[in-house]
Amino acid sequence: MLEEKTPILKEICSEKEVFWKNPDKTACGEAMEQIELGMEDVEDAERRLERFAPFIMKCFPETKERNGIIESVLTPVPKMKDLLNEKYDSNLEGNLLLKQDSHLAIAGSIKARGGIYEILKHTEELAIEHGVLSLEDNYEKLASEECREFFKKYTIQVGSTGNLGLSIGIMSAAVGYQVIVHMSADAKQWKKDLLRSHGVTVKEYESDYSEAVKNGRALSDADPNSYFVDDENSKTLFLGYAVAAKRLQKQLEEKNVTVDEEHPLFVYIPCGVGGAPGGVCFGLKLLFGDYVHCFFIEPTQAPCMLVGMATGLNQEISVQDIGLTGLTHADGLAVGRPSGFVGRVMKNLLGGEFTIRDGKLYDYMRDLLGTENIFLEPSACASFEGPMQIEKNESARKYLQENHLEEKMKNATHIAWATGGSLVPEAIREEYKNTYLEK
Ligand SMILES: *Cc1c(COP(=O)(O)O)cnc(C)c1O
Repeated sequence: MLEEKTPILKEICSEKEVFWKNPDKTACGEAMEQIELGMEDVEDAERRLERFAPFIMKCFPETKERNGIIESVLTPVPKMKDLLNEKYDSNLEGNLLLKQDSHLAIAGSIKARGGIYEILKHTEELAIEHGVLSLEDNYEKLASEECREFFKKYTIQVGSTGNLGLSIGIMSAAVGYQVIVHMSADAKQWKKDLLRSHGVTVKEYESDYSEAVKNGRALSDADPNSYFVDDENSKTLFLGYAVAAKRLQKQLEEKNVTVDEEHPLFVYIPCGVGGAPGGVCFGLKLLFGDYVHCFFIEPTQAPCMLVGMATGLNQEISVQDIGLTGLTHADGLAVGRPSGFVGRVMKNLLGGEFTIRDGKLYDYMRDLLGTENIFLEPSACASFEGPMQIEKNESARKYLQENHLEEKMKNATHIAWATGGSLVPEAIREEYKNTYLEK
């Protein structure tokens, strides 16, 4: 039944790598009319992060350089582009840039955007409600012993495959909260160890991400002083991610990169539950409209957003429902059921999705290390499947044709969004570098 309505499911079920062109993509202006969030919400988030900058700088001296703003660099990777074209017989034109969220301060992954933002927003609300803080204060005062004593009474809980737990755990511990992170079976040991070293309680589950979230939510709901960060539905997380777009716009300007009708921008982001890539793309669409083309990449065994969007069932369907395991070396993307909220927001905005087999993640990792000397964790390396395929894959070429992009590809800018990696311990890096899987 489902397969008749959505023929691509057949390939997805048989673990084939696919490109799915989103048939519901419309003109951006039209799409935005259906969405309840807008630029004013993103700007509100941006201002909140600015208010917290003195506090962040105080707690995390490594953010001093950027005055307490957690932001990553945008790096041209021309040698990686050449390698994609030579080694993989790709035909990529234009410029290839790497957005290094892998090297974001504090959490070493894209989760340093949404996760940290949600904790800060909750902190501001609590503190203002209880007269501990006013909007006009210098937020550095939140780092005082007095304030920490206040926040000790409250608990933060979250379900995570690893990186979200890291960002929420580290920031919550810095504010002074009690923190419980509910980790799915995929979560790496070193991430659990790192959290425990920050005084975070880590609960481990045998099951996958959705179960960890379910249990965490139930436990949190039972405690009136506990706040649950809901990765599957949170608009706050989403807006924290969306702020990235405004910062990126500035970085593109600094690099004299034009984005307009003749100079399209392509962005490729690895996708788990959808919040991070969805938020970033939403922000980019607000800024660049029809000139930006957004693509998600998911593992062939855990393409939850693809399955949700292609069937239109969103969070009503899981990858297990169609016979996939949900198991992948890309721990940050090991999610079986997508965010319904993100699926609905992206419905008319997303260009499409690529899927990638696990073995290629390690190849791209070695490729990037060899050409540009930048290390990314396996999940983040999924982003290279986009630039590798966009002008090579037949269905992707159809997307370019339909959007009248073929002639403009020589002027295009491609951004592979490097979503994590700088906190990976050296011994684990060595392990990754020597991992070769069947392809
Ligand atoms: C979480 C994560 C993603 C995807 O974010 P979602 O919000 O789960 O879609 C991608 N890459 C890495 C490294 C991550 O940790």
